[in-house]
Amino acid sequence: MGATAIDLRSDTVTRPTAAMRAAMMQAPLGDDVFGDDPTVNALQDKVAAMLGKEAALFMPSGTQSNLSALMAHCQRGDEYIVGNGAHTYRYEAGGGAVLGSIQPQPIANQPDGSLALADIEAAIKPDDAHFARTRLLCLENTFGGMVLGIHYLRQATDLARRHGLATHLDGARLFNAAVALADGGDARAKAREMAQLFDTVSVCFSKGLGAPVGSALVGSRELITRAHRVRKMLGGGLRQAGVLAAAASHALDHHIDRLAEDHANARRLADGLHGLPGVLQAPANTNMVFVELAPGAGSRQDAVSRLREQGLLCTGLYKLRLVTHLDVSADDIDRAVRILRETL
Ligand SMILES: *Cc1c(COP(=O)(O)O)cnc(C)c1O
Repeated sequence: MGATAIDLRSDTVTRPTAAMRAAMMQAPLGDDVFGDDPTVNALQDKVAAMLGKEAALFMPSGTQSNLSALMAHCQRGDEYIVGNGAHTYRYEAGGGAVLGSIQPQPIANQPDGSLALADIEAAIKPDDAHFARTRLLCLENTFGGMVLGIHYLRQATDLARRHGLATHLDGARLFNAAVALADGGDARAKAREMAQLFDTVSVCFSKGLGAPVGSALVGSRELITRAHRVRKMLGGGLRQAGVLAAAASHALDHHIDRLAEDHANARRLADGLHGLPGVLQAPANTNMVFVELAPGAGSRQDAVSRLREQGLLCTGLYKLRLVTHLDVSADDIDRAVRILRETL
C-alpha cells in the first residue's frame, strides 16, 4: 500500500482543503467555555438558522452530540426507542445506559433502515410502575447510507408525538439524505424540512462535509441549554474551538451540494461491479456501496487485506463497505473498480 492508496474506509478520512485550512487560520477566536468564541457563536447561529431551530451547540463528536441529546431528553430510568442497528444503540459504547442510566428499547431496523410504525407503537410502555418510562424516539438518517423519506419521518414523529414522546434524529449524514431527496433541487430546504419534524437533530461536519472535527446539536433553546450542561459534564467544553468551527462553517458553505458527486461516484462504483462473479450484491446507497461476497468467494477479512495490498482500503465488518467522499475522484473510482475486479 503506497501513498496513492484509495481510501474508501469512511467519509471521515478526508483532509481539510487548502481553503478550509485558510478559514481555520483566519478565524477570530475566544474562550468558548465563557461563550466568547465569535466563530463558534457564528457557526451555532448559522446551523440553527439553516435547520430552522432556536439554538445549536457545537460538539466535539457525533457520539457526544447524540449522548447529550439523550441526556437532555431523558432522566434516569427513562427509555428511548431506537433501531437495533442504530449508531446511538450499537456503536456508541452503550453511553446512554452507562452514563445516562437511560434504558434503550431496541427494535429491528427494516431492510430500508426504517422502524416499522407498528413496532414503535408496540414498544411504547403504558404508564405503570413495572415499566421504564418511554420518553424518546430516536431515528437515524441516512442509515447505512439509505435515505428515510420525509413522508415516513413525518408518520413516525407524528406517532411519537401522539404518545407524548420526544424525538431525536441522528443526522450524522443528514446532508447526504437532503441532497439525495432534493435530487438537484434545494438540499438546504430538505434538511430544514426534516429537522422541523424532530425536537433535536445532530449533524456531523467530520463525515461527508470534510471538516476535521465536530458535530452540532440543534433544538429548542431549553433543550440546548440542558445539552450544554451535559456537554460540560462529558468533558466537551472546549476553549478556542473557533479553529474547528471555522472548518465546519466553511464545510456548510462549500461542501453540501457537492455531496451529489459522492453519490454519483458510489453509483459509478456499484455499476462497475455489476455482474462480477464472486459478488452477490453491491447496491449503492447515497455515498456507500456494500459488497456482499458470494459463498466460496473467500472471507471478508481476506478480501479486505488483499485489496489493501493492491492499494484499495475498505472495511469488512458485515459486508465490504466502500464509502465515497471529498478526497476521491471519478478516476480513483475507476481505479478502485479495476482493483476490485482483479482481486475479487
Ligand atoms: C459517525 C456517526 C456518529 C458519531 O460520530 P462520531 O463523530 O464518530 O462520534 C453518529 N451517528 C452516525 C449515524 C454516524 O455515522
